[in-house]
Amino acid sequence: SFHRAERISRLEISEIVQISEQAAALQAKGRDVVSLSTGEPDFPTPPHVIEAAHRAALAGQTRYTATIGTPALRAAIAAGAGVAVADVIVSTGAKQVIANAMLATLDPGDEVVMPAPFWTSYADIVSMAGGRPVVVPCGMEAGFRLSPSALEEAITPRTRWLMLNSPSNPTGAIYSAAELRALAEVLERHPGVWILTDEIYAELNFRPFTRFTDAAPGLRDRTLTVNGVSKAWSMTGWRIGWGIGPAALVKAMAAVQGQVTSGACSIAQAAALAALTGDQAGLATRREELRARRDRVVAALQAVPGIDCPSPDGAFYGFPRITGAMAATGHATDAEFCRWLLLDHGVALVPGRAFGLSGHLRLSFAYSDADLAKGLSRIASAVGAR
Ligand code: PLP
Repeated sequence: SFHRAERISRLEISEIVQISEQAAALQAKGRDVVSLSTGEPDFPTPPHVIEAAHRAALAGQTRYTATIGTPALRAAIAAGAGVAVADVIVSTGAKQVIANAMLATLDPGDEVVMPAPFWTSYADIVSMAGGRPVVVPCGMEAGFRLSPSALEEAITPRTRWLMLNSPSNPTGAIYSAAELRALAEVLERHPGVWILTDEIYAELNFRPFTRFTDAAPGLRDRTLTVNGVSKAWSMTGWRIGWGIGPAALVKAMAAVQGQVTSGACSIAQAAALAALTGDQAGLATRREELRARRDRVVAALQAVPGIDCPSPDGAFYGFPRITGAMAATGHATDAEFCRWLLLDHGVALVPGRAFGLSGHLRLSFAYSDADLAKGLSRIASAVGAR
């Protein structure tokens, strides 16, 4: 009979995927369902990027690349970050960068501190690698950000990593330079703790963004910066992400990658190179479009009784508190509330509990204006109609 390995005993299909699949199943049955549930830009991949991929394929870039990434792409990433090429690894999405790092460094029982709400995969990847997620709740009053004192309290002799994500999925929160420096001060006192800073939404910012390594250059020798083309360049399907960190870590991550994928897709790496080195004008256009959507989404949600939506600083998610609306509509949990919105009102959203903070939901505004308007008016009439 089928044996499920201990290492994935706590792994379940992500609630985000489950909801998207449920929404798609309802749509297939002819139901009118608006999905605002996935973290994928609705903008197309820029045409010059697609052309670069086409050219690369025709020119014969169709073979295995170096496991760690093509020299050209690594050089472009290194130049952008002001680091040596040896400090850069290219992987099959930012997700694989994180998985490589955890598989390369965690021993059973090692702890990884993560402020909640966090991107769901952090906890699952850590568990799969044999580590233990240590979740630090950072609620709306704290601006969804980790405080130095909460960090200090969470660190134990078993702590291997702190995972930071700015701008955040699911809250859009951005840590200021001063906030990062305050966290760095705590970390200075704990030389065994490494920092994974996931900056995949860095370009999608509506207020100034500071890289962790710029705020805390003294910690570079134990910081892994994660980034990729999925979000800012609308390239989720190309599966290119990268890690920037000390060469010894990068080498260990490459050893993992060598036994899992042999390296990222050659054609997608050529495309990512074009995204990073080509015309950047589209980036600003997409950012401003998202900013306009953010403003409309926040205004619409704030107008709904029992929903309180702080304005996100970046990325493309709203993470409103919905406890008032849950109570008013007779739902005990955010999951029940979201299920009701999907089944009875045709709008798919993700409950906060999927991100480690209940009493909220995540609404992605990486959707067309028409879908957003429809979804928002359904939420308003569902909650208001009771
Ligand atoms: N990090 C965060 C915070 C994300 O939200 C996502 C995607 O949802 C990723 C990483 C993964 O990105 P990629 O498509 O590069 O694997």
